[in-house]
Amino acid sequence: MNTRPDAAVRKQQREARREAERAARAALPIDAAQLDSLVEFVVSRGEVEGCDHSSRLAQLWANDHGVDWARLPACLEEFGGYCDCEIAMNCNSDQVFR
Ligand SMILES: [Zn+2]
Repeated sequence: MNTRPDAAVRKQQREARREAERAARAALPIDAAQLDSLVEFVVSRGEVEGCDHSSRLAQLWANDHGVDWARLPACLEEFGGYCDCEIAMNCNSDQVFR
């Protein structure tokens, strides 16, 4: 038999994932250029200071750029950016605004 009972489930999960990313993108309080600036900052400072498993550097960037930090972390987490090194890896604008 060639039926794949998991296929429908996987499709559903993929669609749920896409929908969650769409919602996070819509809720993101910054645009692509700001996100590039954020990631650049986190990458360059992270190379020197390392990641302490928080989003400390991202928060510094937000404060410096007058961006409301309260709304940013949940959006970044939706794209896998749970801490500074993950933001550097997973949250560049090509990945978020694709
Ligand atoms: Zn990290």
